[in-house]
Amino acid sequence: MKDKLTGNQNWRKILRYSTSFSRASKESPKEVTSESHKLLIRAGYIRQEMAGVFSLLPLGVKVLKNIETVIRDEMDSTGGQEVLMPALEPKQNWVTTGRWDTLDILFKVNSRYGNREYVLGPTHEEIVTPLVKSRVKSYKDLPLAVYQIQTKFRDEPRAKSGIIRGREFGMKDMYSFHVNHESLVTFYEQAKEAYLRVFSRCGITAKVTEASGGDFTKKISHEFMALSDAGEDIIIYCDSCAFAQNTEISKHKDADACPSCSHNLRTGKAIEIGNIFDLGTKFSEVFDFTFTDKDSTRKLVYMGCYGIGTTRLIGAIVEAHNDGKGIIWPHEVAPYSCHLVGLNLEESEIKERAEVVLQEIVKSGLSVLFDDRPNVGAGDKFATADLIGIPIRITIGRETFTEGEVEIKRREDSETIKVTISELSKRLVTIIEDARE
Ligand SMILES: [Zn+2]
Repeated sequence: MKDKLTGNQNWRKILRYSTSFSRASKESPKEVTSESHKLLIRAGYIRQEMAGVFSLLPLGVKVLKNIETVIRDEMDSTGGQEVLMPALEPKQNWVTTGRWDTLDILFKVNSRYGNREYVLGPTHEEIVTPLVKSRVKSYKDLPLAVYQIQTKFRDEPRAKSGIIRGREFGMKDMYSFHVNHESLVTFYEQAKEAYLRVFSRCGITAKVTEASGGDFTKKISHEFMALSDAGEDIIIYCDSCAFAQNTEISKHKDADACPSCSHNLRTGKAIEIGNIFDLGTKFSEVFDFTFTDKDSTRKLVYMGCYGIGTTRLIGAIVEAHNDGKGIIWPHEVAPYSCHLVGLNLEESEIKERAEVVLQEIVKSGLSVLFDDRPNVGAGDKFATADLIGIPIRITIGRETFTEGEVEIKRREDSETIKVTISELSKRLVTIIEDARE
């Protein structure tokens, strides 16, 4: 069920930390290449299985599901319909597009039977074009957009920066189909707006950056870039307007005057968290995908494609939202809405009171991680809460017990406030509503 207040998707309302499979650890993983890599492993969100390949632990799965919910919301708002295509793709389709030989990150798989070869899909034009072709006959069937959220594979020469660049990763990819270029451009602009809403809901300011089309198109594409030292791209951008270009294609240099306003341009490292391509008729030509237009002539379909790296987005959010102590999740993607720290739980009165507080939080429609570990001190419990990064911390213990109060602290603030248990629900609602503005 969705939290009504935060939009946060939570089927399980309470996690008792003493039973949690995700556990925080003080050890710093070796060969850590980015802050997000370190924090996500230490806080118990992910486990690295080999370079560029990760298991998501229960807290990590919750964050991913929340991100996927935001993405589904916004893709549905563009009229996109969700499908699920296979990760294992036939070689022949890749030979047809020529990308069997030209795409250097392609994972090729040999079958033991009949010398067959397959591709572990890094993208799905080779599947979606014939799929949609089988459904579209006339201009009446267009425009049309389908999307999926699925695991993708890239045979990276070197996988680094943790979950930001993996060999196996989660991705949302959408494909749109149109009668002409004008219709494609209209949808492309809608998709761009939907993307900006996705990133803003995930707490990320994305710069819409002009880039080359790479293996997808000879035209310009747009990348959605989050400025970050962990990024592998360098962009040139303006602070006072929307101008941004990938330095791979830009003719401008650092400190040049912005071509749109007169401010000085800056360069910075950035993480590519999304990209959109105007594919034109490139793929409809090779798959002979045509439709019958109003004038009864056969015409080629125009296509666009739109990607967001879902697991990479987890890393990008952590890069943007952390301090020396740990992660600071935005409300809508946090694994739980509140982190209840129970202190002095050896005392049965306090333990009982903690259970009352727990139910109060759930009654306000919020999910909660309850640190119920016995015989763990306040310092350790607070450090764990800071590391995990749930946006609101609530503490119950001997110190506030006699006044019938609990202490509330926003993860991003240093000050705490004391409220009575009867005021708690109202106060939590106010904090979350303020954060939304
Ligand atoms: Zn400017």
